[in-house]
Amino acid sequence: MSGFAMKLPGYIVTALERLEAAGHKGWLVGGCVRDAVMGVQPHDYDITASSTPEETIAAFEGFRVIETGIRHGTVTVMIDGEPVEITTFRVESEYLDNRHPSGVSFARRIEDDLLRRDFTMNAMAYRPDHGLLDLYGGQQDISDGVIRCVGDAAARFDEDGLRILRALRFASRLGFRLEEETHAAVLSRAHLLGGISAERVYSELCGIIVGKHAGTIVREYARVLAEVIPELSEIIGFEQHSKYHCCDVLEHTCRAMDNSAGDLTVRLALLLHDIAKPRVCKRGADGCDHYLGHPELGAQMADDILRRLRADNRTRETVVRLIELHDCAVVPDTRRAKRLLRQLSYEEAMLLMEIKLGDRMAHAEPYRDISEIIAMKELLTELHRQSPCLTVGDMALGGSDLIAMGMKPGKAMGRLLGDLLEMVVNDSLPNEKAALAAQARLMMDEYTEE
Ligand code: ATP
Ligand code: MG
Repeated sequence: MSGFAMKLPGYIVTALERLEAAGHKGWLVGGCVRDAVMGVQPHDYDITASSTPEETIAAFEGFRVIETGIRHGTVTVMIDGEPVEITTFRVESEYLDNRHPSGVSFARRIEDDLLRRDFTMNAMAYRPDHGLLDLYGGQQDISDGVIRCVGDAAARFDEDGLRILRALRFASRLGFRLEEETHAAVLSRAHLLGGISAERVYSELCGIIVGKHAGTIVREYARVLAEVIPELSEIIGFEQHSKYHCCDVLEHTCRAMDNSAGDLTVRLALLLHDIAKPRVCKRGADGCDHYLGHPELGAQMADDILRRLRADNRTRETVVRLIELHDCAVVPDTRRAKRLLRQLSYEEAMLLMEIKLGDRMAHAEPYRDISEIIAMKELLTELHRQSPCLTVGDMALGGSDLIAMGMKPGKAMGRLLGDLLEMVVNDSLPNEKAALAAQARLMMDEYTEE
């Protein structure tokens, strides 16, 4: 074979040697071989082997073995404290629907195992004593920057529709394009995505939108993604008659994503930030379109979408909040920065600025100025460093002090504390106990329970 050689960690070498000693054949396969061919350090190593799970377990006598997915042929062996997944060569017998293989059968030959894998670049195997086994031209496709199904693309998507999103995920991550037949089958089979579980879809979708080339993929395959987020079809080609914009909403969305770092929350928020624009769009007397209320409605729509996709609560809640705030004015002064830090944690406030940067840079040429956003980021960071008083809990005077001063606990006391905080945040009162107590004494009588 070629002179291609992988540098393997010791625990992987041990795993392959053990299999060999027991009379079996083990191969590295899938992502780790693809990464190595691309000159990227693999993040994990999968082994596929001729041994049945029982034979694998017997081969690793004396090691800790976890029966992770015996039915699917997978066992995990702990070697030098590292988990190594070893899966028996498999062929997928017919898929009855396009979601689940109707049965998994073990195979005796590596060739059969490679045939069931999704793309040529993921269907290569490697053994130190053999070198690269590349039956479908994976190496060539990698050097051409092409994602190509193994075998007939449409049939492969019919077997498992999730492969459609996997193709887009790898394209977004690697900047590859889909080979012609694979591309055509992605478009013609997109409807299959409707039958895939939300969890599987969401996980691939996240992979797509955090990719370096997410904007390019969302632009080219928006109609495919609309199979899992139907609301996206509303922004495709939705022109904006507004001096702030020079393109339709989808194009603006893609540019905004391209302008931002690949943080999942930021990218999800940008994907959906203007999703409500078509629904609220009104042509004004000035002949321009206005989108009053699009952040609020967009936040609601994002909440629906992310619930449907079964996103985790924390991600969903943060994205929804950020979309609601995405159109806020940014005036970089200390008072406003402090106010923002009362609404959002420092981390969230910085995410909001990242969203505003992406959004702003995707505006029409005269409206791309980001200097205020940059200045606000600096202010937020400076305030965070000083960690000044921003919440009631940070104040030098608390509820128990007010009670000692004769006030009754309750809503009125909460209001008084809130108003004192406002004064501290506005710098009209120092955050010192004596000053706060004096001010509280002056105000107290006005704060009684209704
Ligand atoms: P990553 O770096 O994202 O982990 P990966 O290639 O390792 O990439 P996995 O999802 O971990 O991707 O899958 C491991 C391997 O299993 C793939 O390389 C591919 O050979 C095969 N595979 C995974 N999912 C499918 C699928 N739905 N259909 C066919 N083959 C698949
Ligand atoms: Mg993997």
